[in-house]
Amino acid sequence: MRMYDLILKKKYGGKMTKEEIDYIVQGYTKGEIPDYQMSAFLMAVCLKGMDMEETTNLTLSMRDSGETLDLSKIHGIKVDKHSTGGVGDKTSLCLSAMVAACGVPVAKMSGRGLGHTGGTIDKLESIKGFSTSISGEQFFENVNRIKLAIMGQTADLAPADKKIYALRDVTGTVDCIPLIASSIMSKKLASGADAIVLDVKTGSGAFMKTLDDAVALADAMVKIGTMAGKHTSAVITNMDQPLGLAVGNSLEVIEAINLLKGKGPKDLLEDCMALGCLMMIGGGAAKDHDEAEKMLLATIDDGSALKKFAEFIEAQGGDPDYVYDNDKFEKAKYVEPVLAPKSGYVSHIQTDDIGMCSLILGGGRETKESVIDLSVGLILNKKLGDKVEQGEPLAYIHSNDQAKTKLAIERFLNAYTISDKYDGEVKTIFAKVTSEGTIYY
Ligand code: URA
Repeated sequence: MRMYDLILKKKYGGKMTKEEIDYIVQGYTKGEIPDYQMSAFLMAVCLKGMDMEETTNLTLSMRDSGETLDLSKIHGIKVDKHSTGGVGDKTSLCLSAMVAACGVPVAKMSGRGLGHTGGTIDKLESIKGFSTSISGEQFFENVNRIKLAIMGQTADLAPADKKIYALRDVTGTVDCIPLIASSIMSKKLASGADAIVLDVKTGSGAFMKTLDDAVALADAMVKIGTMAGKHTSAVITNMDQPLGLAVGNSLEVIEAINLLKGKGPKDLLEDCMALGCLMMIGGGAAKDHDEAEKMLLATIDDGSALKKFAEFIEAQGGDPDYVYDNDKFEKAKYVEPVLAPKSGYVSHIQTDDIGMCSLILGGGRETKESVIDLSVGLILNKKLGDKVEQGEPLAYIHSNDQAKTKLAIERFLNAYTISDKYDGEVKTIFAKVTSEGTIYY
């Protein structure tokens, strides 16, 4: 086989065989196929697509490029949850504690920030001492003992995805359904959980800008997971505005903790409920949505989710007092309001630009080597559909550098559209996708 011929085959819309896909994935992972040929192939996939059989073969080849975790040492049905990436998305933090407090083992593999989107590992590191670099043994031990552990992707787990993702990031080949589906599912299948719940974001802050594309992505991932023998389901959620009010690492952890104290924003709670119910059903702890919802809400009311979160932080080396005392988090030096330039209604938010505001302040990586500032970010004061008076704060910027504050304010104002009226409907959840089909809300 020659890579040159395979690039041409996809360029003209040909269907790749399993052997051809294995040749490309394994060859690239071992360094036998150069970046420039792989880039050309990935671009051909973006332009010509892949059918379900090709996407499944690509996923399995990426899964098998490295080790797969054997979670059989953990008792019960293990569940994992993955988001396709968004702004202000701190769902994993609160949700994992709520589900674990119901007795379902949550064995979660998380990532760092990517582009304009934040990452669970970066957020958790704003708690002093906390680490996701734990050994496999420690991971098993923690899930068995306290029902919750979160670890980062190791170098051995789906290494093909690590390498291909880094290339896609710089070659304009990220927003492509077969490539996203195989990237996410190769990691999820390699990390060994029995049930997988996917949060597929759609809107101006997501990789999938339209509902149709988000449903197609969710459907592809559910089919792959089901074929691999995993109970897989997905929820399509709104990313036309940040989730909750906080954007930025420590600010988001504080908001997640507040949710566990019964003081969280409505959309974040709705997101947690939709995903949490699927995790509870997938984990065999509830028979239907109503039962799962009651159990999850009870963990907030009786304080057991908050207690679980503190236990989890302590088990991974962090200071559990952060959970009970928000003042322990490092604070940014300056808090500056962004004032509305006119009166009206917030009618559009360019959400990826709000993610970029946090990045500009130092809350995300400009280069692979960047050290991120965990204390910076923003707290929204107005969201979609809200009425606003001229001069009223739209948000508060938390920053350690006045020059960066100025740049973030400029970017923020360009991201918000204020109109005379807003008659749209703001939904948090659009649809649920399971192996039985798609239900729209
Ligand atoms: N998250 C991933 O892990 N991979 C993608 O391709 C997109 C989002």
